[in-house]
Amino acid sequence: MADRAKNFYAGPAALPLEALQRAQAELLDFAGTGMSIMEHSHRGPHYDAVHKEALSLLRELLGVPDDYDVLLLQGGARQQFAMVPMNLVPEGGSADYVITGNWSVGAHSEAAIVGRARVAATTLEDGGFTRVPRLDELDRDPEAAYLHITSNNTLYGTQWAVDGGTPYPFSDDVPLVADMTSDLLCRPIDVSRFGVIYAGAQKNVGPAGVTVVIVRKSLVAGARTDLPEVFRYASHAAKDSLWNTAPTFAIYMLRNTLAVIADRGGAEEMERRARAKSSMLYALIDAHPEFFRCPVEPSSRSIMNVVFRLPSEALEAELLAAAKEAGMFGLKGHRKVGGLRASLYNAVEVEWVEALVDLMEKFHHSHK
Ligand code: PMP
Repeated sequence: MADRAKNFYAGPAALPLEALQRAQAELLDFAGTGMSIMEHSHRGPHYDAVHKEALSLLRELLGVPDDYDVLLLQGGARQQFAMVPMNLVPEGGSADYVITGNWSVGAHSEAAIVGRARVAATTLEDGGFTRVPRLDELDRDPEAAYLHITSNNTLYGTQWAVDGGTPYPFSDDVPLVADMTSDLLCRPIDVSRFGVIYAGAQKNVGPAGVTVVIVRKSLVAGARTDLPEVFRYASHAAKDSLWNTAPTFAIYMLRNTLAVIADRGGAEEMERRARAKSSMLYALIDAHPEFFRCPVEPSSRSIMNVVFRLPSEALEAELLAAAKEAGMFGLKGHRKVGGLRASLYNAVEVEWVEALVDLMEKFHHSHK
């Protein structure tokens, strides 16, 4: 068998080895039942225990208050781009969006199909989304149904609420909705300050195929009812996300992944590791500004996705090839952005980043 890859893909992404080994050990015979968890009924006791454990781990690891529903849905984060406005923008109402990258553009354009969607701020003018806006740049509508942000911009390597950066734009009157697809559970958060948090699982907490949605119960209760039932938060909340057949294997892997995160010390420890990993890379990049360049303003630099450029595309291709040779994968930047990107999600081991930093250091040395 090949050595385990040092996987820096942006998502789907690395999963903890223990979560995969547990799945391997249980694959053919789940809990002595003579069948895999995939073959069990989503209404049976064996799957039900897994489902409940995934939900309770999420509640515990994120400190989700009782007045919030935790939903496990299908359709990816993009389905939430549509479900959020479908449920929460009232007839004739409007929602505010902060545009900090490709995914906020996507969220905003879905909302504009459903109702009115204002742009409260955009950092595109800055030459390509190299930061998140300051709070004083937000032009907020006090009547908005909610304010939507993308908490971590996967393509551009920017993040809200990092050291010295812009804090989350909470307000008492307008609920904050955050797409946390690429930074859920990378650090502790105060869920009680958000209206809705949603995240495709496939980066920090599990495989593709399940989306975590955490929504304040009063918003679910006040949501629109003139929607097909499948798109109503209330249908899924009332049945504990078993209104229809749940993506059982994806939720099983979510459970396995969350159990590893809990074993390793939870959100605080994930943050410690993310900071250790990202600061190693930023320190190296900043130490050789004539060779490596991170286009992101320091006060917006993501601890999840580190984007950087080399002096030429040829050198970038050469470094990618050298990394591949050393068992490191997924370092190519998104096709819209170019350059390189190291995604440092929860299951990316600190030692992998040490190996990458070492390789980059040597690469720089041999090209001086
Ligand atoms: N939001 C963010 C921040 C993302 O990074 C992504 C996917 N990379 C999406 C939304 C879209 O997610 P999905 O493919 O699950 O719809």
